[in-house]
Amino acid sequence: MTLSLLCLAGDGIGPEIMAATKVVVEAACTRSGETVSLADGEIGFPALNAEGSTIPEQVIEAALAADGVILGPVSHNAYPSREDGGLNPSGVLRKELDLFANIRPAQSFKGLATPTGAPVDLIIFRENLEGFYADKNLHSGPGEFMPVPGVAMAMRLITERGSERIGRAAFDHAAANGRKKVTAVHKANVMRTSDGLFLDVMRRIATGYPGIQYDEVLVDAAAALLVRDPGRFDVIVTTNMFGDILSDLASELAGGLGLAASLNLGPQNAAAQAQHGSAPDIAGHDRANPTSLIGSAAMLLGHLELVRAKALIEVSLKKAIADPRTRTSDLGGPLGTQAFSKVLVDLIQEAD
Ligand code: ATP
Ligand code: MG
Repeated sequence: MTLSLLCLAGDGIGPEIMAATKVVVEAACTRSGETVSLADGEIGFPALNAEGSTIPEQVIEAALAADGVILGPVSHNAYPSREDGGLNPSGVLRKELDLFANIRPAQSFKGLATPTGAPVDLIIFRENLEGFYADKNLHSGPGEFMPVPGVAMAMRLITERGSERIGRAAFDHAAANGRKKVTAVHKANVMRTSDGLFLDVMRRIATGYPGIQYDEVLVDAAAALLVRDPGRFDVIVTTNMFGDILSDLASELAGGLGLAASLNLGPQNAAAQAQHGSAPDIAGHDRANPTSLIGSAAMLLGHLELVRAKALIEVSLKKAIADPRTRTSDLGGPLGTQAFSKVLVDLIQEAD
């Protein structure tokens, strides 16, 4: 069976890191004897200019129909208003594809120094549809409002069902991958009702996994502990905004945003997505590190059970990054985006 992947390049460095990702995915699938078809779709500014929307309806339909999506970064902060076609494609896809989990590993690479000197190997399960980022509905803006001028309010949505789904995903992942501990990160001392509900659900789920240790850490303490002792974390499960913030911290501690992969997961669909944004400051200069999106695509292939192709990509990334001569400039190396992807393709073709 041929798996279909939809590639949405996006804005800024998107087209450059997507091109690199596609050649690497193709090389890995060819090497492992898998047939995968890669189709392209337009989102972001190119789609706005051509179709009047940063995420046209037919792209959503193609994403729903594909086995997986490789989603490039988007410059949504620079888009015009919703009325003028400027929707955040990433947010729209999360909702339309019911991508309730954002799985964000932070893993340091052998041979590459980390800011604190400590190795990092943890994985964050971030709830992806609720919290402060929950829209009242898809097209009417986030759950924020201004009851009177000078007073702004935001709503934070936590549901039993949403917590249950992310909790199960985290514990299932721990059980399937030999991870020993799940830590729920929260602020239930202040947000007693919403994070109280979240913790109640986590505790209930934990009882079903007696082989996995479970503990709870306040989000502020978690930030400090990530810097002081990242090794005390294994799997972190948390709500939307805490996961967003802590995963940037964790990925920087693991070596840098250019390395940080993630997978958005729903019951029927999955989307690979780099953790960083569109990096307009370096766009168009062949300077972006594509490891983030390539690693994300590897997670997607693994989810689609192309485990050999996933492993080929991950081993090639480890080898290339271990050697200072084959690193990109964000890691102090000499290679541009394209040359780095060529190194990965060569390593994949040479692999036994
Ligand atoms: P956006 O508004 O789309 O989030 P941003 O300006 O916040 O854009 P990010 O993409 O979040 O940019 O990146 C923050 C910093 O990290 C930028 O200086 C960017 O150049 C750098 N950076 C991000 N991704 C990469 C990458 N893949 N390779 C190299 N540097 C990167
Ligand atoms: Mg950013």
